[in-house]
Amino acid sequence: MSKFNYHNPVRITFGSETLNSLPDFVGKRKALFVTTPGFIKRGILERVRSISDNIVHVVDSIPANPTFTALREIYEEIWKKDFDVIVALGGGSVIDGAKVLSVYDSTRRFDLVDGIIRGTREKKDYKLIPIIAIPTTAGTGSELTPWATVWDMDEKKKYSLHLPDLWAERCIADPILTLSLPKDITIQTSLDALSQALEAIWNKNANPISTSYAITAAREIMRTLPLLVKDLSNPELRTRQMWGCLNTGLAFSNTQTAVAHAISYYITAHKGTPHGIACSYTLPDIMDVVVGYDEGVDRALKEIFGSLSSSPMRSMLAQLGVSTKGKDYGLVADDLNRIKESMIGNIRAGNSIVPMVELFDRLSVGNGP
Ligand code: NAD
Repeated sequence: MSKFNYHNPVRITFGSETLNSLPDFVGKRKALFVTTPGFIKRGILERVRSISDNIVHVVDSIPANPTFTALREIYEEIWKKDFDVIVALGGGSVIDGAKVLSVYDSTRRFDLVDGIIRGTREKKDYKLIPIIAIPTTAGTGSELTPWATVWDMDEKKKYSLHLPDLWAERCIADPILTLSLPKDITIQTSLDALSQALEAIWNKNANPISTSYAITAAREIMRTLPLLVKDLSNPELRTRQMWGCLNTGLAFSNTQTAVAHAISYYITAHKGTPHGIACSYTLPDIMDVVVGYDEGVDRALKEIFGSLSSSPMRSMLAQLGVSTKGKDYGLVADDLNRIKESMIGNIRAGNSIVPMVELFDRLSVGNGP
């Protein structure tokens, strides 16, 4: 086994009703509570305030897939206030939004974060407010990664805020909070996690620890998701799904994602395909291409699927109503060329163990209408 490094400093509290431990982790600090209008309607603020006296400000306006425009407005408002910790309760959008809000300097202006994200400012001379991340989708893994996605819808482009110390201080993974997730979002977010797990395996940055987490994650999601979609209010299945996703976060936080994600951003931005579908419908095709390149990767895939065949994944996607054909997402030959072009110099695409040219020659993604 060759030498490797693994690092993930996030403290994890996992299990049913662990939200009740929030006051222990906030302590005496003044908290900014960040969530969604949906959770406010479902009474989360009353619940959190009933267990903690320290929520001093609330933000409920971070939209799904947060943009620079939306975050700028919120940022300029909240940085007029005084708080020592951010409690972010929501899906990846809320947790990513909280990460962006947590970066500041003496000016307390959004231009700092905007500049860091777009690469016009150096990643230095900033400070961070600690974050307690409470995921309500299972999930993006944002509670366990040091980066955040910000979308520019005018440019149809996804940007990443990636700082070496942008980890949450703690994650409270309470599966009960995912019980209200509707079927479509359950499928999309679970497939995003499956994609992250597999992409952590066929990845140049993989190491034995990340691969071990990724195997646990992918097995659990493959086993649980088909049952969960038929029984959305089952707490045991929600717990297993969150456990799978937690393992995904621990895996890809050290590897980043790879080609399936690199392909997906174009499809989401140009065709409106939800992220979890856009980054997972290519997985069986990618697996077919990847098999045979690396003994360790093959071993890991065998542990997950029982063999090196992509059939179990194809069957599960079919059962969930997710097509594996690019044409079903509106992709035509021109899109395929543009996706190929967008792969040049793309870091995530470059993380894949298979050379991109070969991958694209064999992938059926976007094979015409
Ligand atoms: P989301 O946070 O956008 O939520 C999707 C929808 O579900 C929203 O309308 C939200 O209000 C609702 N919702 C969330 N939890 C709910 C619940 N328990 N019950 C009912 N409704 C609920 O979805 P997501 O997939 O978790 O996050 C997507 C964002 O995360 C994207 O911007 C993506 O780029 C980003 N992302 C970040 C990372 C990272 O490591 N930072 C990784 C992957 C994806």
